Amino acid sequence: MIKLKEKGSLIVISAPSGAGKGTIISELLKRDNKGRWLSVSTTSRKIRTNDIPGVTYNFVTEEEFKTKIKEDYFLEYTNYSGNYYGTPKEYINEKLNKGIDVILEIEIEGASNVKKIFPEAISIFILPPSLKELVRRLKKRGTDSDEKIIERFKKAYQEINEVTKYNYVVVNDNVEDAVSKVEAIIKAEKCRVDKIEEVIIDTKEEEINQLLMDEKFRNDD
Ligand code: 5GP
Repeated sequence: MIKLKEKGSLIVISAPSGAGKGTIISELLKRDNKGRWLSVSTTSRKIRTNDIPGVTYNFVTEEEFKTKIKEDYFLEYTNYSGNYYGTPKEYINEKLNKGIDVILEIEIEGASNVKKIFPEAISIFILPPSLKELVRRLKKRGTDSDEKIIERFKKAYQEINEVTKYNYVVVNDNVEDAVSKVEAIIKAEKCRVDKIEEVIIDTKEEEINQLLMDEKFRNDD
């Protein structure tokens, strides 16, 4: 048998708000919850109604966040819209060494900092299908004021221009298609020669000699 020993891939996914990245990521995890792991970020932002502490984020105060920065707890961190967000270093290498893919759902500056530390990370940018659809999705949430929607739209509009900094771009027109594209990217990256640590050929020399001498293979295609 010929096996390829691969490390897990570090997958960085970014998107402007309203592009549907959350749905795509939960679908990716549903399809393979053993081989993929989503890193839980730490943030100083306020808990929203649909947040689950310890699952969507680990919530801390700004002071606690700053202490963690001093303790070198983060792989990367940033201040986004007045709040701190950071990826804990813990577990990332451990998961990658076990062959598990690690997903980071982070914004653009964080993505670029991760690329400096892990140049082999796969960065994917998710785009909404149109600006009209983006506005529709931002309004659909129903929890934000008009000012907040306009602010989010402006930010999203700026972020769309950053797409060229990423390795891949996926338009989220339809969740099923978008997830299939992201999975195709992950699979293709695993076949790259520079991502393979070792080619394991576990056939003994005697077995090879036996195969070469075996008459029954002579006329096979
Ligand atoms: P939200 O407050 O809407 O959950 O997230 C705001 C932005 O922060 C999103 O673009 C999200 O991807 C990003 N974000 C979440 N966690 C992290 C993190 O650990 N690091 C960085 N750089 N960005 C993050």
